[in-house]
Amino acid sequence: EYQHRAAYHQVLGSGAAKIPLGLRRKGLRIVVTGGAGFVGSHLVDRLMQRGDSVIVVDNFFTGRKENVMHHFGNPRFELIRHDVIEPILLEVDQIYHLACPASPVHYKFNPVKTIKTNVVGTLNMLGLAKRVGARFLLTSTSEVYGDPLQHPQVETYWGNVNPIGVRSCYDEGKRTAETLTMDYHRGAGVEVRIARIFNTYGPRMCIDDGRVVSNFVAQALRKEPMTVYGDGKQTRSFQYVSDLVEGLMRLMEGEHVGPFNLGNPGEFTMLELAEVVKDTIDPNAKIEFRPNTEDDPHKRKPDITRAKELLGWEPKVSLRNGLPLMVTDFRQRIFGDHMEATS
Ligand code: NAD
Ligand code: UDP
Ligand code: UDP
Repeated sequence: EYQHRAAYHQVLGSGAAKIPLGLRRKGLRIVVTGGAGFVGSHLVDRLMQRGDSVIVVDNFFTGRKENVMHHFGNPRFELIRHDVIEPILLEVDQIYHLACPASPVHYKFNPVKTIKTNVVGTLNMLGLAKRVGARFLLTSTSEVYGDPLQHPQVETYWGNVNPIGVRSCYDEGKRTAETLTMDYHRGAGVEVRIARIFNTYGPRMCIDDGRVVSNFVAQALRKEPMTVYGDGKQTRSFQYVSDLVEGLMRLMEGEHVGPFNLGNPGEFTMLELAEVVKDTIDPNAKIEFRPNTEDDPHKRKPDITRAKELLGWEPKVSLRNGLPLMVTDFRQRIFGDHMEATS
């Protein structure tokens, strides 16, 4: 043991061994659950770029190997097909816990599975964090505010959530995940971080995930009418994915537990969003009204004062600047070469 430590000091210089593993700046070992998904894969790109060793844990429910394939062959990258509902043993410094379907179409597909992922999956990752002393970050959601009675939403707002509705598997699942996170923090001393993410868009979103931005963009590209649910006057705030990834990393590296709202405060009605998509893709694009889904929140807009003050973070990419970047990716995937369509 002594010899081992002495050798360690020689290699890293004296003092290095005193720095807790989780706080060493270079070459962290990081697990990203849900890392083959939309947000996760962009986060993985940034961590790989920084020089970390990244393990992606994903069951490929909504994620795709294609999203991380460009890291295959890099010895710092590892991809494990695994469902977070089952326990797993890993040795890491940080855990970004993203595994969970995010689009209503996907999370309603098997609601019980969604709850298990949020509750049992989060429990397992917190158990892992506790065992190895890793720092744990939960990607929660603006949906914890439900159909909010406060506008814009501040982190101190407790929300207005239907516990027995069709969205509850997701909303209440994430609320329980937040509770578990705080209980491991208070009870077991686990270092935790909580992000409440607002609607995010960008390249690599599932094309047919039913979310409004992916629907409108795919529809306009395919020359189909954009489907506006309800009267289209409900609002959302749309954040470009690179802004979110920056916020998640600042949160993980910072000293504050949160929760922190991470979103773009620019608020749009669905009709306004359709206009922006029209301007970006096709001035002749048409819209078509459809009945709205159950329990649809009427408005949503983050108050990001806390993240600005404590993380020094705010979004940089406006909807009009971010949308074209997503359109380029969707255009390639929808009309891409024959190889991609058949692979
Ligand atoms: P996504 O569906 O693209 O990614 C989720 C990933 O988790 C996928 O790769 C999926 O295969 C994986 N996964 C799902 N269940 C799993 C399980 N049981 N075990 C292992 N892997 C599993 O969604 P996203 O938009 O990238 O969302 C990532 C996270 O951010 C989610 O936790 C989501 O709730 C949260 N979030 C996203 C948004 C948004 O607008 N994109 C908003 C709020 C919160
Ligand atoms: N767990 C895991 N990997 C680990 C440590 C724990 O998957 O490295 C799981 C474990 O199987 C358990 C959960 O995390 O289901 C919670 O673990 P904890 O030790 O907090 O609780 P306990 O096992 O005592 O119920
Ligand atoms: N929506 C819409 N047309 C679509 C898909 C969604 O008008 O093709 C609306 C939906 O009713 C909701 C808003 O867009 O009011 C955002 O829906 P999304 O599923 O993208 O996200 P979430 O409801 O989770 O915020």
